[in-house]
Amino acid sequence: MKSRLISAFFLRRASNFSSLPETHRILRDTLAAFTNEQLIPNAHNFDKFGLFPRDQIEQLGKLGILSLNIPSSLGGAEFDYLAYAIAVEEISRGCASTGVIVSVNNSLYLGPILKFGSDKQKEDFITPFCDGTRLGCFALSEPGNGSDAGAASCTAKEESDCFVLNGTKAWITNGYEAEAAIVFATTDKQAKHKGISAFIVPKPFEGLSLGKKEDKLGIRASSTCNLILENCRVPKENILGNLGEGFKIAMSTLDSGRIGIASQALGIAQASIDCAVDYALQRKSFGSPISNLQSIQIKLADMETRLQSARLLTWHAATLQSEGEIFTKEAAMAKLAASEAATFCSHQAIQILGGMGYVTEMPAERHYRDARITEIYEGTSEIQKLVIAGNLIKEYQ
Ligand SMILES: Cc1cc2nc3c(=O)[nH]c(=O)nc-3n(C[C@H](O)[C@H](O)[C@H](O)COP(=O)(O)OP(=O)(O)OC[C@H]3O[C@@H](n4cnc5c(N)ncnc54)[C@H](O)[C@@H]3O)c2cc1C
Repeated sequence: MKSRLISAFFLRRASNFSSLPETHRILRDTLAAFTNEQLIPNAHNFDKFGLFPRDQIEQLGKLGILSLNIPSSLGGAEFDYLAYAIAVEEISRGCASTGVIVSVNNSLYLGPILKFGSDKQKEDFITPFCDGTRLGCFALSEPGNGSDAGAASCTAKEESDCFVLNGTKAWITNGYEAEAAIVFATTDKQAKHKGISAFIVPKPFEGLSLGKKEDKLGIRASSTCNLILENCRVPKENILGNLGEGFKIAMSTLDSGRIGIASQALGIAQASIDCAVDYALQRKSFGSPISNLQSIQIKLADMETRLQSARLLTWHAATLQSEGEIFTKEAAMAKLAASEAATFCSHQAIQILGGMGYVTEMPAERHYRDARITEIYEGTSEIQKLVIAGNLIKEYQ
């Protein structure tokens, strides 16, 4: 079954992505081979036992995939954002957990330091985190507020040479493995989002501890946990950007992050389609393959159309970002469409597989569980709609 899936995928790749620039085609082909050899055969165990894919992350690091958009002068691979989208999709086709680990390091951790960091911060917190041996994380959410990030209650109190951080950051992806975190905390809660600042906190660090690893529905190979700050004295030189700029940094970071999550969702949707088509060609019912049945074909047509539409939106948002254009609305549309496509395609894949869709012997049930988070993190679908409508209305004013 595995070898059939792989050959089917190589056939479609050759015909579907020939319009990409050569660099991006080579990147895609390299990662397709990596995914087929290193991720697809292991993803089931990673998921079942919650195993962090350490070897695979280090191998991806050597290929430059953990620092795709970082200039080579800082140790990165210096690719554009379309390359980032392509890479995260291809990896997530094999293992959505590996996809989010890669996405968080690239866009939620390295991205804001590249954009807002000082030269010293770039030297200390970008270069050592480019090759997959060290990872970073992004700590915005709290137990009491997720969508309403401006309501942060984690505090940062100024002292002569440092800020003293207290509070809990919740749901932090890569929390266990990360060796640095971008932590958002408020110096003035009354000022709401204007009181929030961003701090780079190395890990381990005195006053910073971890909560329990969350036991999740999907993306079970990536760690998620609370970061607990108790009189954590962060030197002033570790403020990212200016004091009070934290909310702006968080929102601009999430614009890029949403392209990563959209791409993760595309990978899950693609894997669901690969699995469904392969099964439909083999499974016979009433004497012939179920792929001959119109009701199955209609499902496949809807799946493919939603995937391809979402991919166009995602690649469009990534291209705008590479060109230095504003892409907030486009990134939100890409994430909304791609996460809905992943949920739809993985749901339909289970239906096409029938009973075999419901058991862990086949990957369809994992895709279904993995898809669900893409509609929640880095802004729920409801929040994406607020972002899209808000920007649309502004365009008319
Ligand atoms: C596995 C996982 C990994 C995560 N990784 C990270 C991470 O690395 N870093 C980080 O900072 N956070 C992370 N998060 C947190 C994630 O971003 C939040 O869970 C998400 O933003 C939603 O926040 P919430 O859970 O507090 O839900 P709430 O904000 O409480 O929302 C609950 C419901 O109300 C709806 N809602 C809320 N406000 C509105 C509104 N104004 N209009 C319409 N509907 C609304 C929401 O859409 C949702 O349906 C992660 C979460 C998970 C589950």
